[in-house]
Amino acid sequence: EVYLDNNATTKVDPEVFKAMEPFFCDIYGNPNSLHKFGAGTHKKMVEALDYLYSGINAADEDDIVITGNATESNNTVIKGIWVDKILNGNKNHIITSEVEHPSITAVCKFLETQGVSVTYLPVNEEGILEAQQVADYIKEDTALVTIMWANNETGKLFPIKEIGQICKDAGVPFHTDATQAIGKVPVDVQACNVNYLSFSAHKFHGPKGVGGLYIQKGFEVTPLLHGGEQMGGHRAGTVDVASMIGMGVAMKLATSEMALAYENNHVRKLRDKLENAILEIPETIVIGGKENRTPNTTLISIRGVEGESMLWDMNQKTIGASTGSACASEDLEANPVMNAFGSDSELAHTGVRFSLSRFNTEAEIDYAIDVIKGAIARLRSISSSYAY
Ligand code: PLP
Repeated sequence: EVYLDNNATTKVDPEVFKAMEPFFCDIYGNPNSLHKFGAGTHKKMVEALDYLYSGINAADEDDIVITGNATESNNTVIKGIWVDKILNGNKNHIITSEVEHPSITAVCKFLETQGVSVTYLPVNEEGILEAQQVADYIKEDTALVTIMWANNETGKLFPIKEIGQICKDAGVPFHTDATQAIGKVPVDVQACNVNYLSFSAHKFHGPKGVGGLYIQKGFEVTPLLHGGEQMGGHRAGTVDVASMIGMGVAMKLATSEMALAYENNHVRKLRDKLENAILEIPETIVIGGKENRTPNTTLISIRGVEGESMLWDMNQKTIGASTGSACASEDLEANPVMNAFGSDSELAHTGVRFSLSRFNTEAEIDYAIDVIKGAIARLRSISSSYAY
């Protein structure tokens, strides 16, 4: 079995699982309770929060709100800004990119039905945008800029530091969806002038169903969930304690200097080996090119090979990859990210995304290369559109 779909989700690190276990049957007090049962839980939660702060270099005065996932974090920021600055303010404009995850795009589309004006910045053939594009579209009534740190399909890294500076200079709040960046590249909210940042634990070997929203001091946002005073009033409801603690430990393990170096050396080496082996086959290309990417991801177009057929063939040999984001893979429409790159429509149907993790081994990659080469040869030989 070879799992090469780590941008969809990752295996929980056994150390994370071990850290979570006591919080089901042994340490189960409500962290908000004043008795000793609550205190035991509370102490561990503070420790987990510390790891989260360090992982993204948040300042002590900033907030990190524990949410259900990155989708909730993204919704909280965009809808909160809508309430604060558009419904109850004099702004009416949001800037985002054409290649965000649906948890950004669908919220923006919804707000458009409510009369909000949204600019979707296009990406170039390399799959990224220039910071200057953001500057060009900021207006007097811009309420929020939301641009992802790393793209989920291609791994392409956006110029977050430059965008952060532009937003700071213009006095416009800046949110970034860093779901695919944590644990793959260094993420530093202070150095990049980020005001809001979203992440999801299951993308960096933490549990599913827990995420975070960083909010810089001085930047408020009306909550999505009203109720009790948990999370400083930013998100009501009793937090999933075990998951939060798991996320903290996962963050610590994923963002240490050693972990990031490993990602950049070992994981990158394996990704490059796999990618170069596939690129030896004629008429294969890396969508967006090789520059400026997270070290674990490659999105490859293989002419004459339908992405879905390729996945099926690989699955028969117990290799898991993806044609695009897992959330979009139920329909056979060409992937919007690939369309945005201006690939011709046939190429857009042939993308296969391989995303690795620190748990992959060289032997797995060697096996995957053999299987992939065989699958491409077989599928091309029966393709009506591909002639050797
Ligand atoms: N943002 C990006 C860039 C993603 O890749 C994903 C998941 O694929 C999400 C947000 C949503 O994460 P979750 O499903 O954990 O809410």
